[in-house]
Amino acid sequence: MTDAAVQNPLRLFNSLTRRLEVFEPVHAGEARVYSCGPTVYNYPHIGNMRAYVFADVLGRTLSWKGYKLTHVINITDVGHLTDDADAGEDKMEKMAAERAQSMWDIAEHYKQAYWADVRALNIRQPARWTVATDYVEQMIEFAKGIAEKHCYELDSGLYFDVSTVADYGRLARANTEEGEGRIEAVEGKRNPQDFAIWRKTPPGEKRQMEWDSPWGRGAPGWHLECSVMSGAVLGFPFDIHTGGIDHREIHHPNEIAQNQAHCCTNGLDDPRNSGARIWMHNNFLVERSGKMSKSSGEFLRLQLLIDKGYHPLAYRLMCLQAHYRSELEFSWEGLQAALTRLKRMVMGFGKWRGKLPGTDVPGDSWERERVTRDLVARFDAAIASDLNTAEALTVLEEMLALKKIAPECVVTAAAKMDTVLGLGLGRLERADLRIRPKAATITEDHIESSIEFRKELRAQQNYAGADRVRDELAAAGVEVMDGDPLGWEWKLG
Ligand code: AMP
Ligand code: ZN
Repeated sequence: MTDAAVQNPLRLFNSLTRRLEVFEPVHAGEARVYSCGPTVYNYPHIGNMRAYVFADVLGRTLSWKGYKLTHVINITDVGHLTDDADAGEDKMEKMAAERAQSMWDIAEHYKQAYWADVRALNIRQPARWTVATDYVEQMIEFAKGIAEKHCYELDSGLYFDVSTVADYGRLARANTEEGEGRIEAVEGKRNPQDFAIWRKTPPGEKRQMEWDSPWGRGAPGWHLECSVMSGAVLGFPFDIHTGGIDHREIHHPNEIAQNQAHCCTNGLDDPRNSGARIWMHNNFLVERSGKMSKSSGEFLRLQLLIDKGYHPLAYRLMCLQAHYRSELEFSWEGLQAALTRLKRMVMGFGKWRGKLPGTDVPGDSWERERVTRDLVARFDAAIASDLNTAEALTVLEEMLALKKIAPECVVTAAAKMDTVLGLGLGRLERADLRIRPKAATITEDHIESSIEFRKELRAQQNYAGADRVRDELAAAGVEVMDGDPLGWEWKLG
């Protein structure tokens, strides 16, 4: 059914050219994607997870379009400084010192926490997770290859001279519209934007993570990691490189410069020279009161949402409701609205599934098939248009609201659409989406039996008794919801 419908060419916004471009794979029939992954020195906040929901939807869309996807996400366990422009300490080392734990233990703990969020958000496993510390030998080889022509040594390490490649900073438009005038953080740099390829361990010090290199004992620069891991696994040039919009300013221009040096190519007018043909960036999730900052104590982690009783896929839906290139503001009201919307979809899907198999529907079956095929085509047009998930969701909802159509058509098409959206429509039940605060003291069994008892009292016209049960439930934080349009009988919290 869908083959004829998924014909819209996939157009993606390339941050490098600042244009929508039709996706043309480097290798016929394949899509190779690299996403900058987390620095595992702390829990990810929900803004970070927006970046991976976006990369996941991109990957799912490429699969929907029939490409054989190879997706790589890296884990940064060394090298990322507290300031992207080479200033400050290694984030991992700082956290390890604060906690009096080894960097390896810190990395393992937060990597597992990140993976738990990945699973909870129904983000598909990439083909490979590359861990930075597994690639240090290859990083040294890469650096050796570019050192002579493109780098210079200072007491603190080996630095990349950005004036040795053409078009440095084109991605960031650093010298034009959005130039952000970076400060020269390291004494002796030739250009303010030059960046560390290798950071030497200062004399008399010992780092927890350090390796021998031709430039002394030390650790790799953060930008080097991604050039090396993406090139090693996917081969240059590969198709798409993703990250959050902050990476458009420093990290990715630096990766591009290294890739140009490594591939011995130059100007960026030829899209092969940047390492990846298309560079894509998700905009930020913002929260006005500063709860997104990891230094703000109880910051917004996915687990906090779960502890307050929200199903994590409500947050996924919240992300999909906005275009990935738009800023998205987080609010609890917004999350609640997304949860309600998800409930309606799950109930809508469940209703159609309940009608299977083959309910007798009046009308012409060809006509019915045509209706769903058109809806799938509209869905495809939406996601093929630079991943317009907001529009794609509307199409899905319109389909679930159809009347007089064969249930198989709707169920098949909705399940297919959900391979892109990843909302788990086929496995979620309405009851999974009930608000379940961790702090609640009353059990669901207790609530359900009280509700049943209250129904019996009302049937016996014992309204005073029924009200008493309702008040007891209210005292335990349970709201009884008579006449709720979604058919909910109670809610916690
Ligand atoms: P980090 O662990 O700091 O390297 O960040 C992981 C990913 O999250 C990167 O792709 C960042 O660009 C992205 N990111 C950071 N903050 C936000 C935010 N508030 N909203 C969306 N993406 C973000
Ligand atoms: Zn990266």
